[in-house]
Amino acid sequence: MDNYDVAIIGCGVSGANIARRLSAYQIKTAVLEKAADVSFGTSKANSGIIHGGFHHNKKYLKARLEMQGSLMFDQLHRELDFPFRRCGIVVAALHDDEMESVEHLYRQGVENGVIGIELCSRERILELEPKLSRDTVGGLYAPGGGIIEPYRFVFALVESAVKNGVKLYTDFKVTAAQYDAEKWTIEADDGRKITARYAVNSAGLFADEVSRVFGGEEFTIKPRKGEYFLMDKQTKARPGRVVFPVPTSVSKGMLVIPTVEGTVLVGPTADTVEDKNDYSTTAVHLEKILDSGKAMIPSLSQNDVITNFAGLRPALEEDFYIEPSKKAPAFIQVAGIQSPGLTASPAVGEYVKDLLKSIGLSLTEKSDWDPLVEERPRSRELSPFDLDKLIAKDPAWGNMVCRCENVSEAEIIQAIKLGHTTLDGIKYFTRAQMGRCQGGFCTYKIIKIIMREAGLSWDAITKHGSSSRILEAQL
Ligand SMILES: Cc1cc2nc3c(=O)[nH]c(=O)nc-3n(C[C@H](O)[C@H](O)[C@H](O)COP(=O)(O)OP(=O)(O)OC[C@H]3O[C@@H](n4cnc5c(N)ncnc54)[C@H](O)[C@@H]3O)c2cc1C
Repeated sequence: MDNYDVAIIGCGVSGANIARRLSAYQIKTAVLEKAADVSFGTSKANSGIIHGGFHHNKKYLKARLEMQGSLMFDQLHRELDFPFRRCGIVVAALHDDEMESVEHLYRQGVENGVIGIELCSRERILELEPKLSRDTVGGLYAPGGGIIEPYRFVFALVESAVKNGVKLYTDFKVTAAQYDAEKWTIEADDGRKITARYAVNSAGLFADEVSRVFGGEEFTIKPRKGEYFLMDKQTKARPGRVVFPVPTSVSKGMLVIPTVEGTVLVGPTADTVEDKNDYSTTAVHLEKILDSGKAMIPSLSQNDVITNFAGLRPALEEDFYIEPSKKAPAFIQVAGIQSPGLTASPAVGEYVKDLLKSIGLSLTEKSDWDPLVEERPRSRELSPFDLDKLIAKDPAWGNMVCRCENVSEAEIIQAIKLGHTTLDGIKYFTRAQMGRCQGGFCTYKIIKIIMREAGLSWDAITKHGSSSRILEAQL
């Protein structure tokens, strides 16, 4: 049995940031993730926005962590390999009576210390975002807001943490935990066990179940679904900035998001559902999304839609619940991490590190901690000359496996070597299967490369882990 100082349960963006932060200290840290890869929970299906800091009052922990987290992204972007851009956020008011709410958001942003926030006239907001409807009467501009590829962020954080000594266990669903002799013995559903002096519950939608396993507080996470349309890169309706409507009392509303990789996302809806695995989408909701998007950007067209999908918010109270448990010893709760959980996540890492210290974990910095991960070339970003140089060294760079997103065989092999051996893992790492044809042309090629490189037989290839086999034997 392996022994650790800290075990982090769940490897979404919260667990990954905590792991990376702890990797800077002379302690042994393990991350226990039930899925076949990291970032397969809520952190894979969200809007990918680094929020602007004006939606929440600073009396909430989530607002304070959002402000701090957002400011940390520039340095993280210099150190790690993930797509990120501060394109700015606009809030568009379509009626005069919405301007009162816009003014409230502006005052809240000023009180929160948002840098450069602007209350905008009709002319100014249309100058900032010319694709907005001519009905727009005014709005708000937050230049520090940004866009990010959320899964690539998690992959880069985990790569950095592992490089600095953190041990990652995948397919490790925590189902039992006992505390004695000042340490937790933590068991997976397949019988594997580890021990840790401290445990962190960052299990997202399942944080309530994990809390119960550790004898912690009783609470119930209610999934709140958000459905989206994804539009092709070819769309003429791509805005230059993230476009928000004026929010309601329950949601930030449905947005138009120019993703960092060039597509456009429209959504999300906000509907409470019972099932934590219900990622279905519905025609009624998708129609609502398109209507809402078109009200702000009239040139959006259904013809550009390439797919739809849903994410689930781990809804608890209005605020994040990040505290040492009052019931379970040496156990930190990181639950109810809804939006702006992605934006806040670097600050959550810092905050949880301090909480662990406050309950007795001794932290001494490593002298050899290395914050950098290797920046990997991507075919689609290279000039023909630079691509040629790579092909001369390795012909796999010249074999374009995914034609929509220009992903070469070399990049698929790289992903597999980094441990992404499911179709979804490869999709999130490389973008192969993410373009206009949604994998129609490249999936079978990727399956063959996984079989060859990972030494897996055809019936071991899955979409996202054990229960999602792709190929069945024909009887
Ligand atoms: C529709 C939508 C849009 C959003 N948009 C934004 C946005 O634009 N900007 C923003 O800042 N935030 C946004 N968010 C919020 C953000 O996505 C979340 O706050 C964040 O991803 C939560 O990360 P997490 O690590 O806490 O949870 P998760 O990503 O869910 O990670 C939890 C992990 O725990 C694992 N796990 C569960 N149970 C166990 C167990 N028993 N043993 C081991 N592992 C376990 C899961 O497999 C999972 O990988 C959005 C959320 C949604 C749903």
